[in-house]
Amino acid sequence: MENPYRTVYEWKERTGKKVVGCYPMWLPEELVHAAGLLPVVVWRSDEPVTVGHAYVQTFNCGLTRSFVDDAVRGKLNFIDGFVIYRTCLQAQELPFILERHVRPAYLEYLYLPAIFPGNATKDFLIEELERFKASLEKFAGREISDDDLRRSIEIYNENRRLLRRFYEFRRKNPGILRAREVMAVVWSSMLVPKEEHSSWLRELLSELEGRHEELLKERRVKGDLKVVLTGALCQTPQFEILDMIEDLGMVVVDDDLYVGYKYFANDVELDGRRPLEALADRYLRRKPTCPTKGDWEMNWTDEVVDMVKRNDADGVISLLIKFCPPHLCYYPDIKRGLVQAGIPEVMIEVEHEIVSLEGVRTRLQSFAEALRRGA
Ligand code: SF4
Repeated sequence: MENPYRTVYEWKERTGKKVVGCYPMWLPEELVHAAGLLPVVVWRSDEPVTVGHAYVQTFNCGLTRSFVDDAVRGKLNFIDGFVIYRTCLQAQELPFILERHVRPAYLEYLYLPAIFPGNATKDFLIEELERFKASLEKFAGREISDDDLRRSIEIYNENRRLLRRFYEFRRKNPGILRAREVMAVVWSSMLVPKEEHSSWLRELLSELEGRHEELLKERRVKGDLKVVLTGALCQTPQFEILDMIEDLGMVVVDDDLYVGYKYFANDVELDGRRPLEALADRYLRRKPTCPTKGDWEMNWTDEVVDMVKRNDADGVISLLIKFCPPHLCYYPDIKRGLVQAGIPEVMIEVEHEIVSLEGVRTRLQSFAEALRRGA
């Protein structure tokens, strides 16, 4: 993940497979995998947006602007196709920009629906997934059988189970793993084949679980406060911010970030169901909560409060991606809910182009001091 462009390119070379970039956060990558393609989750670059601003508004979030910038500059030319879906209004512009200015070999737009009670949503979603499957079959030049899809789902479920075990290790052994390391592990699972990632994870977990007491002495992050992170939809926040949190004495014990717990919280439960129906059911599940699903009855606050209680955490740090309307719409509710529950919280706005982190440091420092005072 230090150089996602090179990583994905090398996997393409090594496997000889076509690469399909999947837009965050809920695309069923398993279908792409079952077609014999290499699904990767598209990422935010670490460069400032330049020519991309001729194609996309400056008041879009960092990921949409950076993705367009990379695409129109040809940095993503090694990616054979893209799948975008109705994540939010900003993501909905992307297929038009790609179609007009990038012309990838494969471009698909999915309408993953807003969640409403009743069967209509699920019926609609299954039809949409059928359509997506047919379009992938055409691009890959092969059929996707139910068995192919079941196999891919099992490979993905295995990776999700291992990532949950990895998170459980962090919860039980706060401070052994730095927040940037945890995020790197999750992010890398979005960039390399899941089979390979799972084998790395098994190795890592056996090392961590086998030596946890030794590791506690060797590498424990020095911190007297436990915090959980929430927010950061679709993209990684700057790793420097994660380091800063820890340098100020706050140990990250859990998160519900997208490049975090949200990505692997649920399995696709086959239970004898048709695999497409099982994929639809995973998307339609209300937990983990996600403001992009248009579920007006969702209760994000309770989920964050539960996470704080489960981890006996001292406070919450909300990472709010600048210009991210889905998070902004729900943030006041979360804030109010946490205040009512007596849980201290601070919001850090994360910008794609950070000029100086001093303002962030000041806010985090004041938050840590307030937590220590019990304010
Ligand atoms: S949901 Fe937020 S972070 Fe994701 S693409 Fe939309 S605006 Fe950007």
